[in-house]
Amino acid sequence: MCVCVILCLGESGLGKSTLVNSLFLTNLYIDRCMPDVSEKIARTVSITKNTVDIVEDGVNLRLTVIDTPGFGDALNNHERYFKFYYVDQEMEKYRRNEIGLNRKNITDNRVHCCLYFISPHGHGLKPIDVNFMKALDQKVNIVPVLAKADSLTPKETHNMKSKILTEIDKFKIKIFQVPDSDPDNKDLFKQQTEEIKRSIPFAVIGSNAVAERNGRRVRARVYPWGIVETENPSHSDFVHLRNMLIRTHMQDLIHTTHYLLYENYRSGGGRTSRR
Ligand code: GDP
Ligand code: MG
Repeated sequence: MCVCVILCLGESGLGKSTLVNSLFLTNLYIDRCMPDVSEKIARTVSITKNTVDIVEDGVNLRLTVIDTPGFGDALNNHERYFKFYYVDQEMEKYRRNEIGLNRKNITDNRVHCCLYFISPHGHGLKPIDVNFMKALDQKVNIVPVLAKADSLTPKETHNMKSKILTEIDKFKIKIFQVPDSDPDNKDLFKQQTEEIKRSIPFAVIGSNAVAERNGRRVRARVYPWGIVETENPSHSDFVHLRNMLIRTHMQDLIHTTHYLLYENYRSGGGRTSRR
């Protein structure tokens, strides 16, 4: 069983909960008809943890997604603390377990990936985004996501993506580096990897509603002028993000967490800041 923990962070109202829901249900119900999901999900007021077991290419995967209230929502002290220190806390638990008696049976709850949601309405990263990402980038694989991409035209999406990448570079924020595909690898894998690399930061669209499209039920946002399908690659990068997380790069996320980020943490004596 392969375990992958994903943490969602970002401002309130950027569609984190909706995306988590979309990621889950599309996989859970891939071969079945879609359930009637309510269009509006409750605003996240506390930290929620959802776990699903899925089978992908014959491999059992356990995916845990942690959804957090956004910045700007009323947070109590515990939750503020949680947002900053959750990653550390799980590293510390793992470290304690490793030196404990039961070290053969450690459950790995370390965060393997942090989906960081960026607003489509700003001009690139906000100072709070820079602060959060810099506070976390030595501890977790950050995967930047451009939220609610349906509010941007393709040209605006393109510009926003390059702006975000330029700023990530300028502020020296370390994000997850998709490894180059192995030349011996299958063509499909190679092609998927290239698409994933090109998509970063993933411009995503989430929805909890389903619509009828050519006799198929698809997850979509329905507007007076048309339908935006979350899983249509010409509408959003949702599929590339999902592929990366559960198909092509889950092992890399887990591997980097263990051999790079966790080693870093351990050699820093378990302290929070190693800058
Ligand atoms: P969170 O606070 O980040 O968890 O955001 P929510 O998932 O609660 O979504 C906030 C609002 O944005 C809801 O009304 C959603 O229906 C809407 N929303 C979610 N994803 C998208 C998206 O991709 N595009 C648009 N236009 N709206 C979205
Ligand atoms: Mg939420």
